[in-house]
This record gives sequence, C-alpha cells and structure tokens, in this order.
Amino acid sequence: VRHLNFAYGDGPTVLHDLTLDIPQGAFFGIVGHTGSGKSTLLSLLLRFYAAQSGRITIDGLPLASVPDAQFRSAVGLVPQEPYLMAASARENIAMGRAIPDERLRAAAQAARIDEFLSQLPQGYDTVLGEGGARVSTGQKQLIAMARALAGDPRVLFLDEATSNVDSKTELEISRELELAARGKTQLLVAHRLATVRNCDLILVLHQGELVEAGRHEELVRLGGTYSRLVALQQLSVS
Ligand code: ATP
Ligand code: MG
Repeated sequence: VRHLNFAYGDGPTVLHDLTLDIPQGAFFGIVGHTGSGKSTLLSLLLRFYAAQSGRITIDGLPLASVPDAQFRSAVGLVPQEPYLMAASARENIAMGRAIPDERLRAAAQAARIDEFLSQLPQGYDTVLGEGGARVSTGQKQLIAMARALAGDPRVLFLDEATSNVDSKTELEISRELELAARGKTQLLVAHRLATVRNCDLILVLHQGELVEAGRHEELVRLGGTYSRLVALQQLSVS
C-alpha cells in the first residue's frame, strides 16, 4: 500500500497518505478509535472501493488487475456486521460455492458453531434467520467465520469478528484460527486489544492516519495512542 488517500464520494478524506507492507503469511492487527478508518482500509484491500490516489499492489501487480474469480477465492471476510440469508445453515456457509461437506463441517467446528447447528431440528438443513431458526448476534458472527474459513482463502480479513462472542469462545476460536489460518495472511480489526496481543504487527489508525506500528510490547513502551488504549482497557502491560 503506497500513499493511499481515500474519501467516500465528495466527503472528507477518511484515509490519509497510508503506506504499509503486508508480507505474505503475516498476522496483522488493526486498532484505533471508532471512525478512525479501520473498516475502510479493509474495504479498499477487498476492492469494495477504489482509492482516489495512491496504489495497492499484490505480488507486484496492481490489486485491480487480479481477475474477479481469482480474487474472490483468495480472500475471506468476516464483516463487522454479518448477515444471514433466509436459507439453510449449510447454504449460509457454502454461499453458492461447491464446498465438500467435510470442509464445511471442519470450518464450522473451527468457528465453534458446529455443535449449535447440529442440534437444530434439521441440523445443517435447518433454515436460519427470518422465519427460520433464531440465531443470536454472536452465533451470526460464528456462522460468518465458518463461511470465511470454508473457502480456505489465502488472505483472511476479520473485522471485529468476535466482538459479540463470549470471552471463552473467543479464546477457543483464536486457538482454532492459529491452526486453520496457518500460512494464511490475516488482518484482524479489534477493539478488544487482547485479541491483537500476539500479532506480528499492530497498526494503529488515528483519524485516518497510520500513527503507530509495532508489536504489542513495543507500542506499550512507546507510550502513545496504543498505550493509552491499553491503559483504558486495563490490560497488564508486562
Ligand atoms: P469502528 O471502530 O466504529 O468500526 P472504523 O475505524 O472501522 O470504526 P470506518 O468505518 O472505516 O471506521 O469509518 C471511517 C470514517 O468513514 C468515518 O468517519 C465514517 O463516518 C466514514 N464512513 C464509513 N463508511 C462510510 C460510507 N459507506 N459512506 C460514507 N462515509 C463512511
Ligand atoms: Mg469498523
């Protein structure tokens, strides 16, 4: 990512002169206050929007030059606001992709939602959402996580992916992700800083600018924005 500037339509600039490198296989965290541009950055990396200036390349080629089908199969997103289709649990995970049942179940297990889905009246064939089985906000997130994992993407984007999940389940999923996402590039947006503690690099956005980047310990020592966020969450700073 080089000198990226972005605004939604005629609105104010949301990302300012952003430059960063994301090595293949890296596990990056993205933190910052509400409205600092975290989801917007993911949207640009996912090609939902194009930047007004600057560039994004992957493997040396412009991101925009990757054919759609290839791009879609290479990326997975657990969005900040996951949605369900009025369709079966299986369809909600597969999303029209030809995914072998075994891989689908393995993804649901890694996302800690297999047990819940198996216990529904028609198991994975139970219709979810409107007019179907009731699903909590956290369960919706877990289904979105299974959906992303089932595609076995090279790059995984997690935007507050477990924000509505209890701490125990969140911890279990992060352990599962270590296995399921081994070798994958992962970008994880989080407000709960405990989930980015083990990242290779944590990016700190402030009003659309990349103000700090480093490992947890480094950023705590730096005494800047990140350390203030940590203090707010009263994490141990050892
Ligand atoms: P949060 O932690 O609340 O999810 P964020 O860091 O993900 O915040 P963004 O969603 O990237 O923040 O928003 C950054 C800025 O862009 C905000 O000022 C927001 O109002 C604006 N914005 C976000 N989405 C849109 C949109 N679709 N159209 C116009 N402005 C938008
Ligand atoms: Mg966001």
